[in-house]
Amino acid sequence: MSTKPRIVVLGAGYAGMMTTKKLIKNLTPEEAEIVLVNKHNYHYQTTWLHEVAAGTINQNQVRIMIKDIISPNRVRLIYDTVVKIDQDDNRVILENSELIYDYLVIALGYETNTFGIKGMDEHAFFIESFESSQLIREHIEYQFAKFHQDPNADESSLTILVGGGGFTGIEFIGELVERVPKLCKKYDIDRGKAKIINVEAAPSILPTFDKELVSYARKSLQERGAQILEGTKINECTKEGFIVGEDNELIKAGTVVWTGGVKASPVLTNSGFELTKGRFTVNGDLRAPGRDNIFVIGDCAWVMNKLEGRPYPPTAQAAMQHASTCANNIRSLIHHEPLEEFVFSDKGTVASLGVTDAMGSILGGKKLYGKPAAAMKKVVDDRYLFLLGGINLLVKKGKVRPF
Ligand code: FAD
Ligand code: NAD
Repeated sequence: MSTKPRIVVLGAGYAGMMTTKKLIKNLTPEEAEIVLVNKHNYHYQTTWLHEVAAGTINQNQVRIMIKDIISPNRVRLIYDTVVKIDQDDNRVILENSELIYDYLVIALGYETNTFGIKGMDEHAFFIESFESSQLIREHIEYQFAKFHQDPNADESSLTILVGGGGFTGIEFIGELVERVPKLCKKYDIDRGKAKIINVEAAPSILPTFDKELVSYARKSLQERGAQILEGTKINECTKEGFIVGEDNELIKAGTVVWTGGVKASPVLTNSGFELTKGRFTVNGDLRAPGRDNIFVIGDCAWVMNKLEGRPYPPTAQAAMQHASTCANNIRSLIHHEPLEEFVFSDKGTVASLGVTDAMGSILGGKKLYGKPAAAMKKVVDDRYLFLLGGINLLVKKGKVRPF
């Protein structure tokens, strides 16, 4: 029997893939066995899911076969669903088997948070995974095809209602303002009949973001036909639409998508990890408090910004940086060396508003709008592909086309 330690990485998203890649670099095959567990045999670009949901991207561009990036000769790849972690026995329970670990990395990402809003789980779509996003794309197209068959049908079946004006909701609206005119043309429908509505409870969309950039985004989306209802709380979701505001007004729609918030994978709570505001708070070295061999990273984790006394926002950018610290710390544990503290390096935030528009701020706080911002967003997206799979992956799946 092998005596080398077994490192088990759960989840092949940004955090899990990058941790595995770095572990391969940090450790020789003789030093440790690495196992990567993921629900599917593919990794998907979570940051592009709004494009999958709107139907503005070729779906094949978003998925990457895990074995094309991580060699099965070097890492044991298990395609199965994690059900539970038994922390006391160092055991992971999968749908079809079980695994013992010496070191565990929990990188299972997020699930949508509906905050107990009545009817949301039953009636709304979520941008939560590749499959759930594909379903939205197909549902929207079906609504247009159905209306085309029956022009006397209720016009509200063409309305697309998006709950929550955070980055996911706003980026999705940005794609819809480009997709809906194309669907109207394809199905011979008057563009005026198809409404795109975003509903945000806070006084402004993107409530915590730079006011000038938010004004730009609002204007850009409104000019291209989106309605933005700010200061409007969603109280309930029914099969007809959202019930909103103090007067409980019904906004009817054929497609209802909730992007009102996210929380850590349910595997954590099922396994006895106590969450605070939807995530698990880790130590500065990214380990679970009191568990020296368990790391929690990516969207499952709150990592404290000690200078500001609040956690860093959970983003793909942060998840990739967690991965590097996590892999270094596992190497240090194996070599009995001191562990490093996670330090976030903020590269800025850019949000797309469709294929040709975007806004955001980059290094040093420089603000970008319009086409330069859209180009920057594509560069940011492509940078990740390069880090993950080098030039080959970039050429195959990248957004910036040199020719
Ligand atoms: P994920 O990328 O969600 O990966 C989790 C992985 O675990 C998936 O492969 C999943 O299939 C797998 N998994 C889940 N549950 C199980 C299970 N039970 N068993 C086995 N496998 C499982 N951040 C940015 O920095 N920039 C952006 O531009 C940006 N854009 C975004 C756009 C959208 C539409 C969304 C939704 C998010 C965006 N984010 C962005 C946030 C970013 O996507 C997340 O912070 C990031 O995906 C977190 O990475 P992760 O590895 O923790 O989780
Ligand atoms: P979020 O929590 O950031 O935004 C949810 C929005 O829904 C908030 O504005 C909130 O006020 C609103 N909301 C909540 N309850 C509501 C209600 N009852 N009625 C109406 N509105 C309600 O969630 P998200 O947008 O999914 O983002 C999740 C994470 O992913 C964030 O950390 C975000 O920064 C990141 N992200 C980043 C990018 C990017 O960098 N381009 C893009 C997408 C997501």
